[in-house]
Amino acid sequence: MKMAWSVLPDEWKPVLADRGLRPFRADQILQALYRDYVKSWDDATTLPKDLRATLAEEFPLTRYEILETSESADGTKKLLVGFADGQSVETVLIPATGRFTQCISTQVGCAMGCAFCASGAQGVVRSLSADEIVAEYMAGREFGEITNMVVMGMGEPFANYDETIRALKLINAGRGPNLGARHITLSTCGVVPGLERLAAEGIQFELSVSLHAPNDEIRSQLMPVNRKWPVDVLLAACAEYTRKTKRAITFEYTVIAGVNDSRACAEELAAKVRRVPLAKVNLIPLSPVSHRPDFRTPDEATMKMFLDVLMKCHVQTMLRRSRGKDADAACGQLRLRRLQTATEF
Ligand code: SAH
Repeated sequence: MKMAWSVLPDEWKPVLADRGLRPFRADQILQALYRDYVKSWDDATTLPKDLRATLAEEFPLTRYEILETSESADGTKKLLVGFADGQSVETVLIPATGRFTQCISTQVGCAMGCAFCASGAQGVVRSLSADEIVAEYMAGREFGEITNMVVMGMGEPFANYDETIRALKLINAGRGPNLGARHITLSTCGVVPGLERLAAEGIQFELSVSLHAPNDEIRSQLMPVNRKWPVDVLLAACAEYTRKTKRAITFEYTVIAGVNDSRACAEELAAKVRRVPLAKVNLIPLSPVSHRPDFRTPDEATMKMFLDVLMKCHVQTMLRRSRGKDADAACGQLRLRRLQTATEF
């Protein structure tokens, strides 16, 4: 048995042949899956009945259920998507003019343990399989055509490399959902072997690296992953990635009051990221998380000072605003609130 949403379009012919099914059916199957977006093989009425029954047995469609939806005043929607074993993840839909961006999760929880992030506060339960990640996309597209995808939900994509990349290749495939590679952004906390593997894939996905501090002293306190791959090692791997792929990397920098928001931090950050060709920086004010009340959002003046320093040093920088705050859908807020509510009862 193989889950239908884990089979890449080019793989259908051989997997059908392996099972004694006729290869020419591949095109009909792909049309049913990714043109008609059938929810059950029973609905694939272009296929003969006996084939539908065989497909249901040999290539089931992943069962998922939208357990909850909440909408923020800015139009951002958060969905809780449940799977067969009772586990669930959150995915966020972010509308903007001419865009409908989906933020997806790759794991239930996260093992990376970044101090400011709610997803990691309870550790990791399990990784999602490729078809479950595709199921999140299917849940999202029930609300409209997805134009952009960011892998910035729960989990570390490079801690679940194979399944994540398989799902993204499928979502990107021309004979699949056909979402452009440049509209898909992967974000990593800095798992260096993942960067090296991605560079070798030869796919034009966008890449973000969560840096959040300019040196090991601060970064190791915020992000345990830094003890394994420190700032210099990470930046060297990033430089190598851009040299190999000719693709820019965006560094995410969540600004936390009194922790990583000084002028000296901004100057050090500018000097370090300039080692990476084409580097860009996204500055994001911290979204407060309940498990760390000591971490506070910086004021506007600090954000502006930080931005000015980077711009003066000729680093391409964007100031990001967090969306979906009142639906607990902002960066780093996923999951924890739900668990807390659950344990209160
Ligand atoms: N594991 C991946 C992707 C998930 S997190 C990664 O680390 O990149 C997506 C982004 O949200 C990361 O940059 C993460 O550091 C950031 N983030 C997490 N918690 C946050 C918070 N409380 N406020 C602002 N950004 C946060």
